[in-house]
Amino acid sequence: MIDYAALKSRLPPLEVIAAQYGYHPNRSGNILCPFHPDTRPSLSFKNERFHCFSCNARGDAIDLVARFEGITAAQAAQLLADRYGTTPPTVTTSQRDNRIELFNAWTDRAAILWIRYIRLLEHWRDAYRPSDPAQPFDERFNFAVQEIDRADYIFQEVFLAQPREDRFTRLTQFYNEQGDFIKILERHLGDDYGERHEARVA
Ligand SMILES: [Zn+2]
Repeated sequence: MIDYAALKSRLPPLEVIAAQYGYHPNRSGNILCPFHPDTRPSLSFKNERFHCFSCNARGDAIDLVARFEGITAAQAAQLLADRYGTTPPTVTTSQRDNRIELFNAWTDRAAILWIRYIRLLEHWRDAYRPSDPAQPFDERFNFAVQEIDRADYIFQEVFLAQPREDRFTRLTQFYNEQGDFIKILERHLGDDYGERHEARVA
């Protein structure tokens, strides 16, 4: 029997699971719905659940993986348990417990911001692509072209790392190397970012 509460406490945000299947959230945090022919991102995430406001598909992480994989919810739960484990982290003191919780919350947030960063680079690459090679290239285009593969590689290596031991080691290293940059991303790509930019970018 799978301990569902323990399993859910170990899962990454739904945005990260969707990214594993090739669906990267836009700046509003929505993805193209994989479950109906979708032209504008209709599927959103909230409180560890997904919902498509067009076809009304909805559910939790287990349902999402079941739909992506074309398997039953029970099989999806087993797949996620194999991938992320179901053992609650052992804690010796409440202080340590608190630090683990804080770190998990930080990595969840960092993953979402990093996805938004990649989406922004993609937007710069496409929107500022030079039409006249004789003119100087827009700096945003130059930067995006240089940076996008590196950013994507980091996402794959850090947030999608398996097995779990590797993932924790890489997240710790990522925290040390990119912690300050994540603060910058939070300022520029934080939660009101979607509303400010989506209309212009879409
Ligand atoms: Zn849908």
